[in-house]
Amino acid sequence: MSERITIHGSCHCGDITFEAQANPSRVVICHCTDCQKMSGGPYRSIVQVKEDDFTLLSGQPKLYFKVGDSGNRRELGFCAHCGSHLYATSVVEDVPKRQRMLGIRTGLLDELAQLAPRSQVWCQSKVSWAENIAELPGVAQQS
Ligand SMILES: [Zn+2]
Ligand SMILES: [Zn+2]
Repeated sequence: MSERITIHGSCHCGDITFEAQANPSRVVICHCTDCQKMSGGPYRSIVQVKEDDFTLLSGQPKLYFKVGDSGNRRELGFCAHCGSHLYATSVVEDVPKRQRMLGIRTGLLDELAQLAPRSQVWCQSKVSWAENIAELPGVAQQS
C-alpha cells in the first residue's frame, strides 16, 4: 500500500498555503497532552509527510519549539496571523532539513474526508468520552 495522493492545505486566514504528497495510510490520531493543549481539542489527527514532498506555496510559518512527551525537541509551525496549527517535526539539529517527517494537521487539508486515521498514539492520555461521539445526538449545523 504505497498509494500517494496530492494534498492541498491552508490555514484559516489563507496566508499560508501548501501542497504535499501523502500516503493516506500514514494518518494517526494523537492523544498526547501537548496535542490536547495546542489544538484546544481532545485529540489531533495527523498525516506524516516527508519534508522533501512538502511545498510551501505562500506565507511563512512562525515556529515554536517544545520538548515533547517523548523527550525529543520538536519544531511546530503555525500561522502567525490566525493561529492555525500547521505541522510538527524534528528540529534541524537532530534531523537535516528536507529529510525530516512533517506531521501535518489534517484539518488544514481539502482532502480531510479521504484521510481517515489508521491508528492512535499516546492513548494513555486519551479522554474516554472521545471514543463514542457517534452515539451523541447531532445536527447538520450549530443549532
Ligand atoms: Zn492564517
Ligand atoms: Zn500529540
